Amino acid sequence: MMRPMVIGTALACAKGILIDLDGSFLEGTALAPGALELFESYADRIAFVSNNSSHTPEELSAEMAVAGIKVEPSRIFLAGAQAVTWLATHRGTTRIFALASRSIRHLARKQGLNLTLEEPEIVLLCRDIELSYERLAIAVSALREGAELVAANPDLTHPGAGGVPVPETGMLLASLRAAVPSAAPIIVGKPRVTMFAAALRRLGVTPEDAVMIGDNPVTDGAGASALGIPFILVGRHRDALARDIAGLLWDRAA
Ligand SMILES: [Mg+2]
Repeated sequence: MMRPMVIGTALACAKGILIDLDGSFLEGTALAPGALELFESYADRIAFVSNNSSHTPEELSAEMAVAGIKVEPSRIFLAGAQAVTWLATHRGTTRIFALASRSIRHLARKQGLNLTLEEPEIVLLCRDIELSYERLAIAVSALREGAELVAANPDLTHPGAGGVPVPETGMLLASLRAAVPSAAPIIVGKPRVTMFAAALRRLGVTPEDAVMIGDNPVTDGAGASALGIPFILVGRHRDALARDIAGLLWDRAA
């Protein structure tokens, strides 16, 4: 963890800046204090690395453009989309039941995944914002039959507007495991290093030339540290080291 006086310098010197979204760059759908200024100062060095598992990068790019953040989808790494890519790469044409949003299911079909309700061999778990009892029952049944469980992220909640907790993928994961305790998930999102590594490749920088800004030491911090990326803590777990993203810019000015 860095001391406050060196955080501004670390940002200015970093060739790549990886930023978490919920609770860090965004507060609900609004930008966090200082987020716009941070983006305008370093836009060409920034990539977003988020455990969001309901949206595609294209959707988030369009939403952020409304708030004045013009970032191309190729710089946005999201756990749901990454889980789809992981399955396309590692599981090919396996029969998959996707407990996921319409956007993610559409993305999965576009990437050639075989989504089905019939005897699935894999359950893909994302933040299914259209969750129904029937869909939950299909997932439980498949897992009881021995289907593999692939989850986008382990987060129980993420902070929404005003810090109100938004139910996340990990909460659905807990409910599935309550019914099928033996279901051991493969987690694709943070803290796994896959998305961090992909973001570094996109920016063309090495871990030591990058920083990660995030609000969750367990996912943002642990994943960054596993690759040797310096980590700056902001947001709800914040302490005297970094009050918020605006604070990072004040440090830089000082
Ligand atoms: Mg976060």
